Amino acid sequence: MRPGDTVRPGSAEEVAAVVRECYARRLPLVPLGAGTGFARGHETTGAEVVVDLGGLDRVRSFDPLLWRMEAEAGVALRTVQRLARENGLHFPVDPGAAELSHVGGAVATNAGGPHTFKYGSMRAWVLGLEAVLAPGELVRIGGPVRKDVAGYDLVSLLCGSEGTLGIVTAAWLRLAPAPAGSWPVVARAADAAALQAGVEQALASGVTPSALEFLDATSARAAGREGPMLIAEADGGEHERDALVEAIGGAPADPAELWRWREGVAYAVEALEGAKLSEDVCVPVDRLAELLDGHAGIAARHGLTPAAWGHAGDGNVHATFCHAPGDAARAERAAQDLFALAIDLGGTITGEHGIGLAKAGWLERQWPPAAVAAQEAIKRTLDPLGLLNPGKKAARPTGSRASA
Ligand SMILES: Cc1cc2nc3c(=O)[nH]c(=O)nc-3n(C[C@H](O)[C@H](O)[C@H](O)COP(=O)(O)OP(=O)(O)OC[C@H]3O[C@@H](n4cnc5c(N)ncnc54)[C@H](O)[C@@H]3O)c2cc1C
Repeated sequence: MRPGDTVRPGSAEEVAAVVRECYARRLPLVPLGAGTGFARGHETTGAEVVVDLGGLDRVRSFDPLLWRMEAEAGVALRTVQRLARENGLHFPVDPGAAELSHVGGAVATNAGGPHTFKYGSMRAWVLGLEAVLAPGELVRIGGPVRKDVAGYDLVSLLCGSEGTLGIVTAAWLRLAPAPAGSWPVVARAADAAALQAGVEQALASGVTPSALEFLDATSARAAGREGPMLIAEADGGEHERDALVEAIGGAPADPAELWRWREGVAYAVEALEGAKLSEDVCVPVDRLAELLDGHAGIAARHGLTPAAWGHAGDGNVHATFCHAPGDAARAERAAQDLFALAIDLGGTITGEHGIGLAKAGWLERQWPPAAVAAQEAIKRTLDPLGLLNPGKKAARPTGSRASA
């Protein structure tokens, strides 16, 4: 193996052998799933060995009657979803790129999606993990057991660690019985305040929507719809649908037609001016309107067109700056102001995509120094030579911030 090589192991043991050799020879490593991540976490400088997990593509076991599956890191989420569906079950983790993204990548980014509002992000569906830790040890933490508080929660630590603490080789996944049906409901939301009010009404109603999304006027227009709008989904029976209609004052919509926007909205918004920078800031839901109005103000100050859509119920906004190709630096500067706003509002710079390289160095602005020190101590303990995905998820700036 040499820097710049891509290796494609076929088994967890082979992954362990790669990490052992890299650790012995002090070669840095970058784990690679499907490469759909938005935080530039799988990017390389050419000095690393890329470990492509796509060769670990077996579903090791599937017990539909026990609602569980063990899948290797390279299994596509769509395969997990399909197997679940064909057996009357449900796997609700659905990032926009679920068709492509892998189990290992979804674990490493703790991926979410529209149904995170009710069902939680990837961590909520992981019972146990098999992973290679430095300097090349294959370990199993948890397994087909639904509760386990024996140790520190290493499974949670690996979920969302973006390949900086270990390489995930397989996951025990939890599944659930499929809901009887799903019922989208659409409500108009004239402005950011109305949108926040709609979310708060939905929460206060006691109905738990399976998704609570929104599109602002610009992104709705780009997706060929009329906005701004709040899009909620009830799962279960017609009773749940009717309760949701009442809660948000909306009207039922056709599911297939309605959700079609989701697949294309990012690309449609990009086409507006030729390029865009989309972030995934997340704030407490009662600060949503301030975030949206603040985002529009930042865009205006930088001479950019704002667009926003995303997971309103989670306060998680794909706050976007549209720009002409070649004008990325301005959007980058606007994004810095957006991160500062999200932190000021008691939120986070990233609700689902992670830090990667794109936001490396920002955590020290969000967390108190002792918490940053704890994060760095964990990294040093699990990766003493700093060879696992170096430079990614860094809490403090390690050099100049690379452009997103
Ligand atoms: C159109 C589109 C829509 C999206 N929508 C959403 C969304 O709604 N919600 C959301 O959360 N994300 C979304 N994403 C981002 C992306 O799909 C997820 O982050 C995805 O789960 C990453 O999976 P991947 O296999 O592509 O990982 P990659 O992109 O290959 O890797 C992501 C990170 O994880 C690390 N990694 C990958 N595999 C492993 C492993 N086995 N062990 C350790 N580290 C590993 C990589 O080094 C990198 O840091 C979207 C992406 C696209 C393109």
